[in-house]
Amino acid sequence: MKILFVLSGALLLCGLVLAKTFWGTPKAYVTSDIPHFWEAVDSLKNARNRADSIAIIQTLYLDRMSSEGKKFINIREYTAAEYVRTLYKYPNYFKTLRVKTNKIASYQTLLDSTFKKLKSAIPDYETPTVCFAIGCFRGGGTTKKDVILMGSEIALADSAMDFSEFKGNLRTTLSAGINLVDLVAHESIHCQQHHARNRSLLSIALQEGTANFLPALILHNKIDVSKDQYALAHECELWQEFKNQVDNDNLDQWLFNTSTIKNRPPDLGYFMGMRICEAYYNRHTNKAEAITTLLDRSKYMELLEQSGYKGNCAGK
Ligand SMILES: [Zn+2]
Repeated sequence: MKILFVLSGALLLCGLVLAKTFWGTPKAYVTSDIPHFWEAVDSLKNARNRADSIAIIQTLYLDRMSSEGKKFINIREYTAAEYVRTLYKYPNYFKTLRVKTNKIASYQTLLDSTFKKLKSAIPDYETPTVCFAIGCFRGGGTTKKDVILMGSEIALADSAMDFSEFKGNLRTTLSAGINLVDLVAHESIHCQQHHARNRSLLSIALQEGTANFLPALILHNKIDVSKDQYALAHECELWQEFKNQVDNDNLDQWLFNTSTIKNRPPDLGYFMGMRICEAYYNRHTNKAEAITTLLDRSKYMELLEQSGYKGNCAGK
């Protein structure tokens, strides 16, 4: 009887712990889509034709996706046919990627300590769930509410992998290697931003600028603009142009323009946003309050005014 009581007590306790894990607290990492992907890849050898290949990817990978992985597929609009094309285009790269995805558990420890540091410095920081899936090279990380959706084929790239099958900007970006911690930290800041989105240049530049600025400040204790040589050399003239366009919703000259911009480096809006965030933060003595404002999308116009940022034009 006593043994039964102890047992049932243990079961009850166990049940409570499980309940908390399954329903009480969100999952920290979702990695179940990765083994399904490789199972599908291994099964492609059984395909007799392209239709078979597409059906294999569909049934073994896409149809078995986690709920988070499904969001990733929907946002990027990936299809089984695109996976088949991508796998046949970059076979060597996918071989080296497999080695990287087998080590995902080891990155989780690194990400846990990153989230801990961000949480200690950012008021009301909520640790997001991170889902690692594999896509077709149309984006490394994105977010859906409090979930970060990682395209591991980009996010896990490091400079030692085989990039011989790639050309152009994709080759340049991947072969430089992706800093997974910085990428996840950036996306995790997007998960903290609140109030309605506004599609103006100022709003998007500050959303992206904040997502670069806060991790640089908190994780690295410095804002490293050394890679922004062009932007630094042209900061004053970029600002003169940027300030007249803050209400525009045409982002072509400033953001997400890697494949279209011709006359200057892509994504200069990240730099402009970060400079404004940095100026605002440096001016405020109450740093916690400054961080809270940086995460509030409804405050961006006053943030710009209060930053005092004027393009660092003196002496240029
Ligand atoms: Zn971003």
